[in-house]
Amino acid sequence: MELASVVPPASLVEPQGRYLADLMGRGVQGTADAVVLPSTAEEVAAVMRWCYENDVPLTARGGGTGLAGGAIPVGGGVVIGFERLNKVRQFDPLLWRMHVEAGVTTGDVQRLARENGLRFPPDPGAAEISQLGGNIACNAGGPHAFKYGVTGQWVTGLEAVVPPGEIVHIGGPLRKDVAGYDLKSLLVGSEGTLGLITAAWLRLIPAPELELPVIGLYRDAEAGVSAIERVLASGVVPAAIEYLDQVTLRFSGDAYPFGIPDGSGFMIITEADGAASEARRVAAELREALDEDALAVHAPEQPSQVAELWRWRAGAAFAILAQRGGAYSEDIAVPLDRLRDVARETIEIGERHDVVALSFGHAGDGNIHSTFLFSPDDGDEERRADDACHELFDLALRLGGTISGEHGVGWLKRGQLEHQLGPAGYELHTRIKQAFDPKNLLNPGKKR
Ligand SMILES: Cc1cc2nc3c(=O)[nH]c(=O)nc-3n(C[C@H](O)[C@H](O)[C@H](O)COP(=O)(O)OP(=O)(O)OC[C@H]3O[C@@H](n4cnc5c(N)ncnc54)[C@H](O)[C@@H]3O)c2cc1C
Repeated sequence: MELASVVPPASLVEPQGRYLADLMGRGVQGTADAVVLPSTAEEVAAVMRWCYENDVPLTARGGGTGLAGGAIPVGGGVVIGFERLNKVRQFDPLLWRMHVEAGVTTGDVQRLARENGLRFPPDPGAAEISQLGGNIACNAGGPHAFKYGVTGQWVTGLEAVVPPGEIVHIGGPLRKDVAGYDLKSLLVGSEGTLGLITAAWLRLIPAPELELPVIGLYRDAEAGVSAIERVLASGVVPAAIEYLDQVTLRFSGDAYPFGIPDGSGFMIITEADGAASEARRVAAELREALDEDALAVHAPEQPSQVAELWRWRAGAAFAILAQRGGAYSEDIAVPLDRLRDVARETIEIGERHDVVALSFGHAGDGNIHSTFLFSPDDGDEERRADDACHELFDLALRLGGTISGEHGVGWLKRGQLEHQLGPAGYELHTRIKQAFDPKNLLNPGKKR
């Protein structure tokens, strides 16, 4: 039986172009025999049943913004894209909740919440392209995860299709649910290897009345990390604690809206939010903690300035990429007391491999984007950047951290997970995969 006989003809598109690669997939190109764009969960189930009956690999694709090559169909077979499964099924602003299909973009969820006085806090960088299904599959974070947590913490229920093609409902518009094993958390972050997410119930909160960033600039990483430690010790809870190191500032600083003083080698961005009086109190405490040893402290207050700051921060990744045309940007996470080691050792790793190195990221979560640059025309430089990433993963584990704080393992970090989990932990991980997907057809080769 042909795949065309189980889905409407209009759901099948040519297997080419963007469905075979990722936005930032390091040039890895997949192959596919078919690309399906279903419009209902029932169609998703029919596709999975067909794949299971015919032993055909099935790779989920959201917005293709993942940074681990997770959506690239490296094993051929069928790609299933979620862009037409994009309805808001229910929105109850007075109950702070929303039921959306997997293909709704992060930006659309954030906007709908905002227009109704609410907030969906997860804010991964590529919000206009990434989809809720992809965010859930990666358990995506972002700058404000420090106070608000990552995507999974805002999901109360999932509709998913699991092998061999059953639609399951886990949780729902519930604020508490401890019955059974935590299947929702297994699917969250599973990168399309356990099931296909077709819809989710999301939890929202009332939008903060005021957001007040406080930014500190320091001579070097030592002074900057000490300031981060003072912020944490101060006892206030900022919404975000981000950092950018000297090299990152060199590449992206020209567009910084409030001017970078000469000699700056480290920037910290914090933000206070909440009711107006609370945000002002927290901002004052942040200012006090950041002030010591600072070359400058900036505290923009106008909403347009705040938006400009975060736009600039989100664009830093592109300014970095523009330097040499290629960048391997990883997402290790370490305990907070090892932050200064990562900032220093990232540069040392770059020196050892003769590539430009830098780091920036979500300092409050110890989640660092250590980055190694290369020119796409220089195969040897690219190989050295790749070697540097491997040394970085070893560093993360040596410091008691993880190889991935938010991007996932995907294809690009394959082989690393076993080092982190150890033999018994990895065996358990493998058995969970087998329990969900005994034929190993869902996104084969990934998250391992
Ligand atoms: C400029 C930029 C900035 C970024 N900033 C951040 C950041 O701050 N924080 C962060 O965490 N990430 C960040 N990312 C990474 C990326 O945006 C997130 O990982 C995002 O959640 C991926 O969503 P997507 O829809 O693009 O998924 P895709 O890239 O399409 O897929 C990612 C993985 O999820 C699986 N998948 C997709 N949809 C489904 C589904 N419906 N069911 C089951 N599996 C599915 C895929 O198979 C794949 O394994 C950034 C990326 C870019 C390009």
